[in-house]
Amino acid sequence: MIIGSHVNFGEKQLLGSTEQALSYGANTFMFYTGAPQNTIRKSLDEALTKEAHELMQKGHIDLKNVICHAPYIINLANKTNLDGWHFSIAFLQNEIKRVATLGVRYIVVHPGNYLKQEVPVALSNIAEALNKIIKPEDEVMILLETMAGKGTECGRDMTELKYILDHVVYPDKVGICLDTCHLNDAGIDIADFDTYLDELDRLIGLEKVKCVHLNDSKNDRGSRKDRHANIGYGTLGFTNLVKVCTNPRLENIPKILETPWIGDRAPYKEEIIMLKTEIFNPNLMNELAKTAE
Ligand code: FE
Ligand code: FE
Ligand code: ZN
Repeated sequence: MIIGSHVNFGEKQLLGSTEQALSYGANTFMFYTGAPQNTIRKSLDEALTKEAHELMQKGHIDLKNVICHAPYIINLANKTNLDGWHFSIAFLQNEIKRVATLGVRYIVVHPGNYLKQEVPVALSNIAEALNKIIKPEDEVMILLETMAGKGTECGRDMTELKYILDHVVYPDKVGICLDTCHLNDAGIDIADFDTYLDELDRLIGLEKVKCVHLNDSKNDRGSRKDRHANIGYGTLGFTNLVKVCTNPRLENIPKILETPWIGDRAPYKEEIIMLKTEIFNPNLMNELAKTAE
């Protein structure tokens, strides 16, 4: 099982992220190269990167399973604000270079928000933006995330992702990231995950899936809300999430937890244990709350 969580990328950069991941008993992780809400980025320290790679090797974290996530304020879909659209393109191009410097192969991107545009226009804007961003020599793959459909999010339906994939010049540089909370909130029945995978395989191809965000959801199926819950504490439930996590068709795909912290306590170490042992701890929230500030 390749499993980890969202971790920080702070003063110690990739080294700090690796240390944090190992402290959770993880064998992979996902990070933002700065704050997820903004695009301010510090320069990368080569020595820290090298140390991080050495620690990963010792700690059995394979760099090819490590994931970066682009900040969610960029919007490749909106050409009504041309400056913003060009800024998003330039930022992602630069971010891909940073990610490559770190030796990381995947960057997850939210497809974008259509706002006041028609959806097909927005989807074609996204494909056009990707065609400006991606260079044939890029070693980093962009992973489009399945979205809950909150507000005007694109990527709620797999046909939207298929449209984008069908219109990029270098389709081998673009993949998919499945988010279980988003899928549920978008109307997919996670209890019948294999049927979803069948349809995905038919339409897009399962080999396009390179990452899974494993989250429970605070809301009902089809709610289009996007509020993550801790594993087994939401509407998806522990059994269904274990089934996703252990599904043989996604065996070699990294699973990343983006579940909420309890006060100042990360739940990841305990959630990873639950998923590996397949034993749900109904007292986990109380236990974490006790040790949290
Ligand atoms: Fe995301
Ligand atoms: Fe996600
Ligand atoms: Zn989400």
